[in-house]
Amino acid sequence: MAEAGTLHDAFIDELRDTYDAERQLTKALPKLAKAASSAPLREAFESHLAETQGQIERLEQVFESLDEKVRGKHCDGIAGIIEEGKSVMEEDFDDDTMDACLIAAGQRAEHYEMAAYGTLVAWARAMGHSEAADLLQETLDEEKAADEKLSSLAEGGINQSAAEATHSDEDEEAVAVGGGARKKGATNGKSGARRR
Ligand code: FE
Ligand code: ZN
Ligand code: FE
Repeated sequence: MAEAGTLHDAFIDELRDTYDAERQLTKALPKLAKAASSAPLREAFESHLAETQGQIERLEQVFESLDEKVRGKHCDGIAGIIEEGKSVMEEDFDDDTMDACLIAAGQRAEHYEMAAYGTLVAWARAMGHSEAADLLQETLDEEKAADEKLSSLAEGGINQSAAEATHSDEDEEAVAVGGGARKKGATNGKSGARRR
């Protein structure tokens, strides 16, 4: 009878899964960059692509430090997240809305990776694989920074621009219904066609 797998086996499996996830992301990030209208957003995706290539090399060092062959194993989780990102890119959104959606898609990927690397670091430390743990921690920090960068772009203007285009009409209505008065300066029918 085969012996039961250990945490070390699970760790190697997770490393393979994450290695494959990073490789999938090197194909997805250029698509996100290309779809972005905001130059800083495009640059954020491009610079994270370069970082991701370094993360792949770092994972290769991790395998080496453990005397393991470098190998990937299909990551269904990131494949699903990338698939959803592709669907959103096929939508006919205005530029700001598309940028907001690209950020949402990118952050799903970053959070997935943060979960993966968080686990990998904790397991590596628990088993005393300190060289691996240090390498994995470096990547975890990069993923967190990438996530924060996306948040700052969203909150630093992209969401607001998208929201202004969407809600200008509805807000006026809300004021009219709620307070019985029109917003000062709002001219009926002048703000263009309603969205949706
Ligand atoms: Fe990554
Ligand atoms: Zn996975
Ligand atoms: Fe990432």
